[in-house]
Amino acid sequence: MRTTEKPLSSYQAAREWTPDSWRDRPITQQPVWPDENRLRGVLDELALLPPLVFPGEINELRSELARVADGRAFLLQAGDCAERFSSCNESKVRSKLRVILQLAILLTYGSGLPVVKVGRIAGQFGKPRSSPVELVDGVELPVFRGDIVNDPAPTVAARQPDAERLLRAYHHSSATLNVLRALTKEGFADLSQVHSWNQEFVCRCPAGQQYESAAQDITWALRFMAACGADVTADRPSALTQTNLYTSHEALLPDYEQALTRHRPRTGTWYGTSAHMLWIGDRTRDLDGAHVELMSGLANPIGVKVGPTITPDDLVALCDRLDPHHVSGRLVLISRMGADRVGDLLPPLVRAVELTGRRVVWACDPMHGNTFRSASGYKTRRLADITREIGEFFRVHRSEGTMPGGVHLELTGDDVTECLGGADEVLDTHLCERYETACDPRLNASQSIELAFRVAELLRE
Ligand code: PEP
Ligand code: MN
Repeated sequence: MRTTEKPLSSYQAAREWTPDSWRDRPITQQPVWPDENRLRGVLDELALLPPLVFPGEINELRSELARVADGRAFLLQAGDCAERFSSCNESKVRSKLRVILQLAILLTYGSGLPVVKVGRIAGQFGKPRSSPVELVDGVELPVFRGDIVNDPAPTVAARQPDAERLLRAYHHSSATLNVLRALTKEGFADLSQVHSWNQEFVCRCPAGQQYESAAQDITWALRFMAACGADVTADRPSALTQTNLYTSHEALLPDYEQALTRHRPRTGTWYGTSAHMLWIGDRTRDLDGAHVELMSGLANPIGVKVGPTITPDDLVALCDRLDPHHVSGRLVLISRMGADRVGDLLPPLVRAVELTGRRVVWACDPMHGNTFRSASGYKTRRLADITREIGEFFRVHRSEGTMPGGVHLELTGDDVTECLGGADEVLDTHLCERYETACDPRLNASQSIELAFRVAELLRE
């Protein structure tokens, strides 16, 4: 008679993971590349290029996320919905970094917790879409799937997927990372620069003035420490002058991600080297699908978007597949339920994960469950709904005794008018003024700062 064994998941029973084992799995949200040979040539070329990020950095992020899971740090993941190749220049990258640093310092100052900064940056070029086609002026066109696939111009030719774009995505990611690495290590992130991160258009608005006053307090606190002779940099001389910004994007195109996997024979570990953290979208998180298969074999921190249709059983099965060994800092569960539903939908999910005994990072994406089309026809979100969803997310975790570990935001350092509300009130009639996103509406810098003050308050409560 057979002894009773723990049932293996269908995956383990089927066979071992390899970087291309995802190819036998059902897959959705993929472009149809017109030239298979060209695609193969591009993927071969990518496979020979250097990694964009390195295993040591990926492991470091995992350790930092383990601290978040324990409640000893907070995660700020933020950036564009969809990056554009055309925004890959020093001034745009600087302005994205600036607003992320502003938010992080407000959160740290307000809560006393270190903030782990992860950008939706240097690779966030692919977008899942609700339909493969769209009607533009009565003409049916293939939908824009992000700069890594096609061009958004409304013509059939522009919308044709072009595999060459996978290479361009790699090189634009590399150029963006180069600017980020320089700025985070070369004085721009120095805490004594906290005032200079405020941009002129932000200074004029109420959130900007509140930021100025917090920046002044921070400057005084630093002077006070120095005057007392407290050497806060004794262990780490760079603590006040340098920072880390990790990169992340949705791992939507397994072809691209596979080409950038790299093996470390000494430890037998595979890393995805296109970004430090990769996440699986709400539309591609099928347990037996290609995306989950590929991510399950990589050592990176993996995010999973957790939307309203997931059940506690689905979520536990996903956690078991992606984190069979309960590695702290491995999983970031990104809840995106909508402000009205998170209070009902999140508690059973949190409980089910708690019962598995693992420590995960729970983050709140208050953007994707609160999107709607306004009367003027723009896809938008209200800052009030975004704030409310984060408040509810905190309330659920406080009552479950779990950690509200972080927030996941779509924002920009620019003065756009894409989301409604804020002290500088953006109204529906203003959306047309500076609506610049390539996909979903982003918070502008002053709305983002206003939100950070609110999150800092929640962290203190
Ligand atoms: C996104 O993060 O831009 C996105 C498409 O999210 P989701 O998978 O949660 O819909
Ligand atoms: Mn989005």
